[in-house]
Amino acid sequence: METMAERVLAVGGGGREHAIVDVLARAGADVCAVMKNRNPGIARFAKDLLLTKETEVGKVVQFARDRGIGLAVIGPEAPLEAGLSDALRAEGIGVVGPSKMAARMETDKGFARTLLAKHKVPGNLRFGVFNDLAPAIKFAKEADFQLAVKPIGLTGGKGVKVEGEQLKDKAETLAYIKEIFDRSIGGIGVVLEEKIVGEEFTLQAFVDGTRVVPMPLVQDHKRAFEGDLGPNTGGMGSYSLQDHLLPFVAKEDLAQAMESMRRTVDALRRDDCIYQGVLYGQFMLTAKGPRIIEFNARFGDPEAMNVLPLLDSDFVDICHGIAGGNLSSSKVSFAKMATVCKYVVPAGYGLEPKANLPIEVDESAVAREGAKVFYAAVNEENGRILTTSSRSVGIVGIAPDLERAEANCERALRHVKGEAIYVRHDIGRKEIIEKKVARMRSIRDSY
Ligand code: AMP
Repeated sequence: METMAERVLAVGGGGREHAIVDVLARAGADVCAVMKNRNPGIARFAKDLLLTKETEVGKVVQFARDRGIGLAVIGPEAPLEAGLSDALRAEGIGVVGPSKMAARMETDKGFARTLLAKHKVPGNLRFGVFNDLAPAIKFAKEADFQLAVKPIGLTGGKGVKVEGEQLKDKAETLAYIKEIFDRSIGGIGVVLEEKIVGEEFTLQAFVDGTRVVPMPLVQDHKRAFEGDLGPNTGGMGSYSLQDHLLPFVAKEDLAQAMESMRRTVDALRRDDCIYQGVLYGQFMLTAKGPRIIEFNARFGDPEAMNVLPLLDSDFVDICHGIAGGNLSSSKVSFAKMATVCKYVVPAGYGLEPKANLPIEVDESAVAREGAKVFYAAVNEENGRILTTSSRSVGIVGIAPDLERAEANCERALRHVKGEAIYVRHDIGRKEIIEKKVARMRSIRDSY
């Protein structure tokens, strides 16, 4: 008997969403897509396409209604904040993406820290939340620990500054706090929290309101330039290992991070905020164990591109489990492979990116090298692919071990051509990983 393919709405037009659409199509879904730019990777899979801002809730809901959508997967955070998941649920559509209230785990850093503190979730930090400048300045002056300064709302991952790094001394810290209020960076208010030292890792999980089912760990690289130098970006690339851990993260560390994730989802539920979607935990492994840097209410970008190609299970089934509150961990399995993702970005990305230049990808050559292409913030115009000021193309090498995955990625990168592009080639290489492992060892030893 032939069954009708399920119509699934995919929201978002970046590399993360290309990876989402790839696994939806692999699971046999008929994909209808909504995005701002015409992402050629997504456009190719889509049975139908709406080019609009993902935060235009009314238009997106109308499109979903007209197309008879039963299930929706929301990629980016902005539509969550705009209430798209609630509006789609109100239409009876199953949604992978938390409600506007539950998405405050990402969209309101003050809400997140306060919830963790109220429910004594392990891994939280000392912090203060301020809606006025004067008490924030007082807290910063009196704190007997170094600070991370975070605008309360969304800043595209670029608003956080840390003492001893982007902030050279207390005077710079105070000036930045004032700037956040003066210019309303990321809304109104600031979170000041304890600076911690260690190595960062990402734990993403499928959450159905109660159950938390983990994906392989990933390490992202936020700094723009090789050697982890330069300004923070949305992420320049990432890697994952065949054992789904990381070279500096032991099983016990993962278990502790999972406990923080489970307790967070419980805390939300107890406060009548059911979380159904992907929960992204950014952790820092410190001498005292994993600590929570932040939560995001969606897959990471690039991290989605590491884990989704490894998914052995049916993604549509998983989405139904999330949306229906009956996800079974036995339904979720990932291949025991390593991945290395390197983002091709416009030259000057992070500082002054050069936009609107052509980029060419020989996709079949990339596939022959054991890698995958995920288009990100590019525009398809008259058969040409043009860069924008954001990340252009993610290339993901996949192999049984990290060394080969990295080599596949590098060979595949040779098939991406453009006159003004930049790649952090050090990502996934032995030298940088050994440095991270040694750094973690010395942090642990000095404790
Ligand atoms: P976020 O946008 O919260 O992920 O922060 C961006 C980056 O700032 C993180 O990836 C960390 O490298 C750094 N960071 C954030 N919070 C802290 C903290 N409490 N201590 C040290 N570094 C931090």
